Amino acid sequence: MGAEDLFAQFFGGGGGFGGMFGGGMREQGPKKARTIHHVHKVNLEDIYRGKVSKLALQKSVICSGCDGRGGKEGAVKSCTGCNGSGMKTMMRQMGPMIQRFQTVCPDCNGEGEIIREKDRCKKCNGKKTVVERKVLHVHVDRGVKNGHKIEFRGEGDQMPGVLPGDVVFEIEQKPHARFQRKDDDLFYQAEIDLLTALGGGTVIIEHLDDRWLTVNIAPGEVITPGAIKVIKGQGMPSYRHHDFGNLYIQFDVKFPEKDQLKNLELLEQVLPTRAEQTQPPQDAMIDDFELEDVDSSEYSQARAHGAAGSMDEDDDDVPPGAERVQCASQ
Ligand SMILES: [Zn+2]
Ligand SMILES: [Zn+2]
Repeated sequence: MGAEDLFAQFFGGGGGFGGMFGGGMREQGPKKARTIHHVHKVNLEDIYRGKVSKLALQKSVICSGCDGRGGKEGAVKSCTGCNGSGMKTMMRQMGPMIQRFQTVCPDCNGEGEIIREKDRCKKCNGKKTVVERKVLHVHVDRGVKNGHKIEFRGEGDQMPGVLPGDVVFEIEQKPHARFQRKDDDLFYQAEIDLLTALGGGTVIIEHLDDRWLTVNIAPGEVITPGAIKVIKGQGMPSYRHHDFGNLYIQFDVKFPEKDQLKNLELLEQVLPTRAEQTQPPQDAMIDDFELEDVDSSEYSQARAHGAAGSMDEDDDDVPPGAERVQCASQ
């Protein structure tokens, strides 16, 4: 890069300095107007199917009334106070020393040029730019990731003498009521009743594209609480590919209420026999107990005061078998 280019970068353009360039100057290359950032919130359905969002933004464009000069030909004069640089070197007495410092030129407010009131462009009032509404078509591609950035180069603010800025949209995926997403996989919580968990049945899941999935649980499959199963290929479409992630289903098994049970003795024919418990020795003292329901406020008090904070530590609530084992070992 030649010396001329360097100078062109530092002094070129004729655009004003001072607060007009966001985010600092680029390391190299010509100056550019600030980038407009916007977070575009999208729901999971739209990411699944893909869509085009029409987004309107307000941006500065070069005034067509004066072609960005601020006034008619010849009306724009370089500021004499700062020789058109927009900055002025001032001096200040600091005790025995004289301090030199740079400040924004007060005559032209850092613009480097002055237009007489009557010569100002009527359309932009001498500002050289006007604010315009622009609609951009943002392609939300299928399977796009949260945080993905879509860039429109040169669609941002325009200013005289500098390159137009960019517009950047960042995709933000909104939380979903039914699904959670991790990369291309979806996670779904399904509540099933005990009969379905043991005897089989159907789980119906509303997907993201108007389809409803009927998921069959085979009789005897035995879905335990918290069990995770997968339906392959029913996750999110992968970004710019044609394959799909998986749909993981975690099951919550809802047990029946007390009074919903009937013919309980028939369970003996269905379920495996009761697990064997440690039997007390022949000479052990045996006490019989019945379980009671727990008063929830009493329970939380017991937990708060209990040394280990666990019901199992409370002698009264230990199942009879365990109690006797404890006694016997003393
Ligand atoms: Zn104008
Ligand atoms: Zn000036």
